[in-house]
Amino acid sequence: MVTRKSKREIELMREAGRIVALAHYEVSKAIKPGVSTKELDDLVERVIRENDAIPSFLNYNGFPASACISINEEVVHGIPSPHRILADGDIVSVDIGAIYKGYHGDSAWSYACGQVSEEASKLLEGTKASLFAGLEYAKANNRLSDISHAIQVTAEGLGFSVVREFVGHGVGKHLHEDPQIPNYGPPHRGLILKSGMTLAIEPMINLGNKEVKVLSDGWTTITRDKSLSAHFEHTILIKDDGYEILTTL
Ligand code: MG
Ligand code: MG
Repeated sequence: MVTRKSKREIELMREAGRIVALAHYEVSKAIKPGVSTKELDDLVERVIRENDAIPSFLNYNGFPASACISINEEVVHGIPSPHRILADGDIVSVDIGAIYKGYHGDSAWSYACGQVSEEASKLLEGTKASLFAGLEYAKANNRLSDISHAIQVTAEGLGFSVVREFVGHGVGKHLHEDPQIPNYGPPHRGLILKSGMTLAIEPMINLGNKEVKVLSDGWTTITRDKSLSAHFEHTILIKDDGYEILTTL
């Protein structure tokens, strides 16, 4: 069931989103060669708890950390570790969720660590562009797959491929609510968007081909061809005249 949030629920989600954005801001300043992914995770957890919120991902289906941190060919769900040290030229995808008074915010961003290659830089820009191309269609009375289609057309138009195994989602009282939001597909299909719906839109885009696999830790997902992957996500509110980003400062 797809819910439409009340004014009060939206206020709480704005605060959850602000806390997630604040954690991203702190992470963006901390990412540099020599820093471990565990240090970044500790920073994320500290910012969330200092703001009276709870990390959404910690213990979610058994996930052992507050942030998912996925480097280079890792697509999503990388597990932070004191032994995983960032190097110059890495691209680092950080996915953060926070629960504030029972409501979630969810946002992922891929960061350049030091000086990255030109192709890595293009992948980061292209993945962010595909998110915002999808958001252009996030508006009451559009259909859900208008968002999906715009993401796919943008990413593939730049020569990249779209991961199929993971999708965007409704978000609110639960981290993952209906509907599922693929990052590909034909336009003008599926749910008709209504004001008050809150959605997490999150393209995962590969430099090479679209196939992925899950490593033996049961979480870390990588590209099969070991090409670079990037991930950008915002939690948004659907409005009559467009959308509002909730995961922002
Ligand atoms: Mg996320
Ligand atoms: Mg999400």
